Amino acid sequence: MYLRHVTACPSTAAYTTHRQRHGTEAWRIFTCPRHRRLADWSVPGNLRRLGPGDPVPPCGTVRDHRPHAQIVVSHLHGWMGAGGWVTDLAPDDWRGHLAAAHEYHQAIGADDRTALTAHALELAAADHVPDLLALLAAAETSAARRLVP
Ligand SMILES: [Zn+2]
Repeated sequence: MYLRHVTACPSTAAYTTHRQRHGTEAWRIFTCPRHRRLADWSVPGNLRRLGPGDPVPPCGTVRDHRPHAQIVVSHLHGWMGAGGWVTDLAPDDWRGHLAAAHEYHQAIGADDRTALTAHALELAAADHVPDLLALLAAAETSAARRLVP
């Protein structure tokens, strides 16, 4: 399980929702009332209020249970906006998607994301997958701090 933090909200969570794939939980997010319908993380049918005995983490906490290939691609195609650049890659070809995202950010002159994906490619080449996921999660949190008031 990988922890992510996708908002810059100082509130504690009051709601949770999750997405299931193949009968198991793919990810679960905890949010405050204001952020309970975040664009990339909303599953309205599964939204419920936290009850007694539930954990109460900070708003925006995501427990991501997906395989690392899916997590990397979800970063690239989610908050990094690099989806659709190359469409002939297999969904689980995360190294290919990472290289494509690097080219995309270079092409559009997004220097910070070009540098980020260059660093991520170095970690991928060295098979440092946990460090790669930590790098992308930290960048996602920083991006949320810049975007979410
Ligand atoms: Zn919030």
